[in-house]
Amino acid sequence: MEQSRYFGYLCPKCGVGVTAGRTVFSLQAAAARMQCQCGQSELRVETDGVKFRLWVPCGLCGKEHQAELSAEALLQGRGVGLACPETGALCCYCGQETEVHRALARLALTAAKDKENAEAFTDNVIMYEVLSELRDMAARDGIACACGSHRYTMKVRRGFVDLTCSDCGGTLRLSAATDEDLDDLCCHMALTIPGGRA
Ligand SMILES: [Zn+2]
Ligand SMILES: [Zn+2]
Ligand SMILES: [Zn+2]
Repeated sequence: MEQSRYFGYLCPKCGVGVTAGRTVFSLQAAAARMQCQCGQSELRVETDGVKFRLWVPCGLCGKEHQAELSAEALLQGRGVGLACPETGALCCYCGQETEVHRALARLALTAAKDKENAEAFTDNVIMYEVLSELRDMAARDGIACACGSHRYTMKVRRGFVDLTCSDCGGTLRLSAATDEDLDDLCCHMALTIPGGRA
């Protein structure tokens, strides 16, 4: 029975896990290309007879990574993982079919978690920008209430900030979740809290 080796990576274009197998014979005989079903990324393997060179589309950082493996590492044993130099996580796996499928499932999970973290982080960056904008405004004495007071308290919540007048209790709620919220705030030189009671 002819022996096969499998390759797995996460497509940086469509996010799908790609696995493909090639016989050891064909890997030694010619360069191999394994394309994603979307047609927008492909993993390439070439050999000079001694070592193998791989070009791996990286589903974690979106770049293409080059790696060199000995024939022994690529063609024998359970398999070998390649790490993304940008994120430090495994982005490609070559070896036995079951190992490749297992590694790819883990990889898809890592990518999903990274995306979640990135979204939470964007949120924080905007909140940070909004707060520093408010600080600048306060420094110019640009925040006041319609009742005439310049004393207020600021409460930070997830996705928005409440400014409450210390004298009349009037409240101004500012969204702080998206780029638009930030642009919106930056247009204002001053903010007025609508007065609470007359
Ligand atoms: Zn794809
Ligand atoms: Zn990468
Ligand atoms: Zn007031």
